[in-house]
Amino acid sequence: MRGLAAVPSYVVMQPTTLCNLDCAYCYLPFRAADRRMPVPVAEAVAASVNPWAVAGRFSVVWHGGEPLAAGREHLAALIAPFGPEVEHHVQTNATLIDDAWCAFFVEHGVRVSVSVDGPRERNGDRVTRGGGPAYDRILRGVAALRRHGLPFSALAVVGRPEPGQATELYDYFLGLGCDVLGVNIEETEGVNLRDNSHDARLVTAFWAELVAAWRREPRIHLREVEWSLRYAAAVLDGTADDLLPRRLDPIPTVGHDGSVTVLSPELAGFTDVRYGDFSSGNVLTTPLAEILAHADRTPWVGEFLAGVEACRSSCPYFGFCGGGHAANRYFELGRFDGTQTAHCRNSKIHLLEGVLEHARDHQSPAA
Ligand code: SF4
Repeated sequence: MRGLAAVPSYVVMQPTTLCNLDCAYCYLPFRAADRRMPVPVAEAVAASVNPWAVAGRFSVVWHGGEPLAAGREHLAALIAPFGPEVEHHVQTNATLIDDAWCAFFVEHGVRVSVSVDGPRERNGDRVTRGGGPAYDRILRGVAALRRHGLPFSALAVVGRPEPGQATELYDYFLGLGCDVLGVNIEETEGVNLRDNSHDARLVTAFWAELVAAWRREPRIHLREVEWSLRYAAAVLDGTADDLLPRRLDPIPTVGHDGSVTVLSPELAGFTDVRYGDFSSGNVLTTPLAEILAHADRTPWVGEFLAGVEACRSSCPYFGFCGGGHAANRYFELGRFDGTQTAHCRNSKIHLLEGVLEHARDHQSPAA
């Protein structure tokens, strides 16, 4: 795996910077302002994306802010330029979902992923602009999805991983009715400066317990656990080298103003005296395909690729991780060519160790 691929597998789009919630761990800098994406930005992105979607599976992920805060009419206008082969997803806090939004998702073939952190008492960080709990509103949105028979994914942020929590979390999501679950240990990035270093034993035990809970009733696709098991199986088969892509997926984020930030949506909207605004171009002046063809010339991207090579030569987890995320390096280490971060310890190293710990604890006596 060397350098960036010229064609991504998906594009992240920011229909508005606004979010109607004000979660304590949010990384977004302009979430109180409603800066909306003009339709010409979507038209410019679609001009590159439509041929990619004809050639192979391709997704547009409408992210935010809160993408539903852009309103149905505006979101429909932004979706309109994309061809029928393009798959659409929204990552939403669910608080605005009602019958009308469910009809919209059906009409436009939009797949929904809901952000919720588990049972009510685990959602203390998810609050309204007035500081009140958002949990009941989130559940009302989920109830609407279920009423309409719409499948949905869920994304949970875990602030302090600790024993007992993983089983509680998994059982909660079994009851919620999602079919895919992603679990993120909270990250220090963007405007969220909260410390994300944790006791290694607690984090490893958290992941091991999550594997055990999932194996008891594997009804949900559990993203992190399935990645780890796929990697472990590939190591045993001697095919682990085939798991990492030959080139890194650039994962372009198109900001509300058309600016393109590769690799990490979390960098969009920030500036730094050394790296400028992190963007590699703007779709209003340059086609997205052309921006991506030259994105590895963006100065910070070159520094990040040097960091990936440093990981390759120094980290035993590289085959699983592939070199980590640009935003975590920048916000934790202040630059892109460092290696280990608290994020990669929490979400890669201790994850893999947790899966192995679970396997060791459950091996048969004859093995
Ligand atoms: S686990 Fe951390 S140090 Fe290792 S390859 Fe990934 S980012 Fe680099």
